[in-house]
Amino acid sequence: RPRVFSGIQPTADSFHLGNYLGAVWHWVALQDTHDAFYCVVDQHAITAGHDPKVLHQRTRKAAAQLLAVGIDPERSTLFVQSQVPEHAQLAWILGCITGFGEASRMTQFKDKSQKQGSDRASVGLFTYPVLQAADILLYQADAVPVGEDQRQHLELSRDLAQRFNNTFGKTFVVPAAHIVKDTAKITDLQEPRAKMSKSASAPGGIIDLLEDPARSAKKIRSAVTDTGREIIFDAEAKPGIANLLTIYSALTGRGIDELVGAYAGKGYGDLKKDLAEVVTDFVRPIQQRTNGYLDDPAQLDKLLAAGAEKARAVAEPTNRAAYERVGFFPPV
Ligand code: ATP
Ligand code: MG
Repeated sequence: RPRVFSGIQPTADSFHLGNYLGAVWHWVALQDTHDAFYCVVDQHAITAGHDPKVLHQRTRKAAAQLLAVGIDPERSTLFVQSQVPEHAQLAWILGCITGFGEASRMTQFKDKSQKQGSDRASVGLFTYPVLQAADILLYQADAVPVGEDQRQHLELSRDLAQRFNNTFGKTFVVPAAHIVKDTAKITDLQEPRAKMSKSASAPGGIIDLLEDPARSAKKIRSAVTDTGREIIFDAEAKPGIANLLTIYSALTGRGIDELVGAYAGKGYGDLKKDLAEVVTDFVRPIQQRTNGYLDDPAQLDKLLAAGAEKARAVAEPTNRAAYERVGFFPPV
């Protein structure tokens, strides 16, 4: 079976619909066809400042949500990044074959560091894509299911794999991005051309899986839409409506064309009202299951520790091979 790897940061108390539809939804589906490794990337989550207690709790919450949406720890390897030390070890090696200019071209760093100010942005934020490459290459992943915003980082992972292989001998599988176009960029409800983001979106722009559905409904009702009246799918001219239709279609399995037909002659208000119901029905059971996992943190931690052991069984030999190729003494 081909292998997939992907990760999500515990940088908020809840995943948002962009995380779910752009990535995690596909993670669940890929379990049927792939040998899957899914990781709560807490080491990435400390690149922009954090509170230790909050991070710890959010890491659990992220794992609980992954289980709640259908990641099956019997079929997939679900684990926390910092419990597998090879990630940081390989990242050092990869950092030494990454050009400073090459890393400087990463647009996500430019965006995030601009927001923080260059004195406050950390070196960790700068080297984040190198750690991400290590995450992926350690598992010899063939495919990496992510949203559109990760395309450039994936390209770097591929370049680093190829460069290492060419320089030191074939060691890594060169991974391909698995980006499902329809839902690859869910946008901010208040800024329908920007991506919905845990760290950048204002609360009104983001639908969290774990928030009170009444709150989500209110946000959907006040989502920014253009001044026209017609419900058609036009991402350029009507990005707000296109985003609502995309979410509606993905959560119900009804095609965009079918939805456009069903709402012919109706108003934006009707669409928003119905979508609020769709979202409510979707999140309720996820919230219940998430809370169920969080009620027993000891059990959850045990499950994650077992996942980390499974992950290490794959990561360790890859890292060992990389150590050997670059001339290091073997890890003991
Ligand atoms: P942050 O703003 O802190 O970077 P994030 O919302 O981008 O948070 P991540 O944990 O960085 O969340 O990303 C997890 C996964 O969700 C990645 O695969 C990413 O591509 C995907 N993703 C994030 N936002 C969106 C979005 N708006 N639409 C589609 N996919 C998304
Ligand atoms: Mg992100």
